[in-house]
Amino acid sequence: MSPANNNRIAHPVDNQEEFTQGVVKLKRFEAPVTSVHGVGPAMAGKLEKLGIATLGDLLYHLPRKYLDRSAVTQIASIAENQDVTVVGKVYKVENWSTKTRKRMLKVTIFDGSGYVSGIWFNQDYHKEKMEEGVEVSFSGKARYQYGDLQIMNPEYDVLSSNNRDSKSESINTGRIIPVYPTTSGLTSAGLRRVVSKGLDITEGLVDPIPKPVREQYGLMGLEESLLEVHFPSDKEKLAKARYRISFEDIFYMQVGLALKKKYRSLNAKGRRHRMPGKLILDFMSNLPFKLTSSQQKAWTEISLDMVGIGQMNRLLQGEVGSGKTVVALMALLLSIENGFQGAILSPTEVLAEQHFRRIKELLGGLPVRVEIVTAGADSGVIESIASGKVDLIIGTHALIQEKVRFSDLGMAVIDEQQRFGLGQREEMVSKGRWPDVLFLSATPIPRTLAMTAYGDLDISTIADVPKGRKGVVTVVADEGQRKGAYARVDKELDAGRQVFVICPMIERSDNLELRTVKSEAEKLAKVFKGHKIGVLHGKLDSDEKTRIMQHFEEGKVKILITTVVVEVGIDVPNATVMIIENADRFGLAQLHQLRGRVGRGEERAVCVLFADPETPEAKARMEAIGRYNDGFALAEADLQIRGEGALFGFRQSGSPDVRVSNLTHSSEFIGKARKAGFDLVGGAFEISQSEKRLVLWEADRRYGESLEWLFKG
Ligand code: ADP
Ligand code: MG
Repeated sequence: MSPANNNRIAHPVDNQEEFTQGVVKLKRFEAPVTSVHGVGPAMAGKLEKLGIATLGDLLYHLPRKYLDRSAVTQIASIAENQDVTVVGKVYKVENWSTKTRKRMLKVTIFDGSGYVSGIWFNQDYHKEKMEEGVEVSFSGKARYQYGDLQIMNPEYDVLSSNNRDSKSESINTGRIIPVYPTTSGLTSAGLRRVVSKGLDITEGLVDPIPKPVREQYGLMGLEESLLEVHFPSDKEKLAKARYRISFEDIFYMQVGLALKKKYRSLNAKGRRHRMPGKLILDFMSNLPFKLTSSQQKAWTEISLDMVGIGQMNRLLQGEVGSGKTVVALMALLLSIENGFQGAILSPTEVLAEQHFRRIKELLGGLPVRVEIVTAGADSGVIESIASGKVDLIIGTHALIQEKVRFSDLGMAVIDEQQRFGLGQREEMVSKGRWPDVLFLSATPIPRTLAMTAYGDLDISTIADVPKGRKGVVTVVADEGQRKGAYARVDKELDAGRQVFVICPMIERSDNLELRTVKSEAEKLAKVFKGHKIGVLHGKLDSDEKTRIMQHFEEGKVKILITTVVVEVGIDVPNATVMIIENADRFGLAQLHQLRGRVGRGEERAVCVLFADPETPEAKARMEAIGRYNDGFALAEADLQIRGEGALFGFRQSGSPDVRVSNLTHSSEFIGKARKAGFDLVGGAFEISQSEKRLVLWEADRRYGESLEWLFKG
């Protein structure tokens, strides 16, 4: 727990005794561990290695598992080959070398009924923790060897040190024994002793979660939960205690998110747009297609936000090619129609250029002045943005430079938002005074993440894809299938279609045997004679990049060989084949984005991934990309393959400081805590002002800083 010290969430503080007393007690959680009786500098040093600096850290350092004494076997009753957990005191430690020069370690324990020995080869270091007299548990398969009962390489935990201290004896004899994450020189029992002293502060503690909330959600009280989680009286109470402690963490976070959201939506400083008028109508009647029903729905949600008094903070998510850009453009036009400026921040130059061309095309003859700002933008353009001569500005990172000033920015669109760090998104938004903000994401956001890291945003989802799209078939292939794949490419080229070839690198590097853009360009020129090849990668200058992209879009270039610069946005409906070389080198989010570049037209497309996965993880990724077409399913699979902490496509996102553990809970559990938090902020519970203030105070203490950092702006 790393509490923020100052009050960030706005709420009035009065002198009501109840609130003040509650805060005084809660502040004790921030006291240094050395304030615990008996914790000196040496112990504090050990605790620090476990990340424990304050009393709160100590009490929230939860056991990693529990041993149930009723499930512990008496040594005398062990049968040959039985999997057992035994608990006893170390009786003898023996250590010797075998004839084959192996080091042997034998630790024999006694539990009052009999003896059993743990045996290790070449792992003498275990003996450091197991002096005679220390209480340990061994788990493993028991066998009779040379007349001894032995467990090879037992899993073990040191439960208590070699103590003569009767107090510590008593705290280690409960039916359920907690086993803590420990560090050298500190046993589970040692930790329990410190924790038991630390728990003194819970006396008289006021639970910041008000009673009606606890009752509705079946939550154990705070004081009891902390006691039970460290000194469980039985399994049922332990389970309730752990539930409460997981729940409160997410609950406080959700309270913070709810406040943040409420504050924005009620803030009269937000831009208030008038209802859509002629510009939007003209735009819509010019469109060469009809909006899909989910585009229509997203547009309704967005325009309602925009006419409201608060600041819009909405995430628009949808698969690549689902038509987010068109909807975002309508939002920008609404703002422009209201006399403001609109901006789109794009992650790459290629994408910004493409937006620029596309948008001009879509606007046709409408009276909207559009400019683009990339690295080399001239001062004339920058001047015209400041003076308000330009209505719609499309740009890359160059847009968030200090020198770019807007006359009056009313609507900011952050395209491919996960590609920007939080700071960059903020800088864009701060170019205006409370502009409405629309975040676009083609990377599907799993529900757990949507409720936490993006928990204060409103979300619109474009679920359907424009009619007539045939989609893409994904094939994971090995070298043996290369001939067949090239035959398919030939057929498509003959039919006038176009092809992407993606390589992980531009040119050969010494130690990597990967296919490169340059070597493939040479090879494929021979394989597909007579078809024009274009080469695109990050090292080309931007004019060159634009020219090649344009040639590909216009169909002059038939085969585009490229690195992942095409990952986002590029839209060439006539491209029906994509070949990805060394596909196992790419992440799942990236592969999904890449393949979304094809299948955007009326022909069924194919994406061939050449891969030779070596690790189990790489194999699992290849299996998943072949199996799931749906980005959401793929995102969930990715979460499972990579485990906690690794989130689909969120690697370079300046990742949220949300505790990872939060994201590994089930979405159902998070959903409950979210409802509780939002209901509380929404006034659904009958609680006193001081109760409300206390819960807000605690939410702020825990999450004030990270929420500020996460969602500032
Ligand atoms: P995204 O931004 O979600 O990747 P775009 O907005 O760029 O998708 O749309 C992809 C392509 O589909 C563009 O060429 C766009 O003009 C076209 N498009 C968008 N909406 C529709 C629709 N409702 N019907 C047909 N085509 C559409
Ligand atoms: Mg787009």
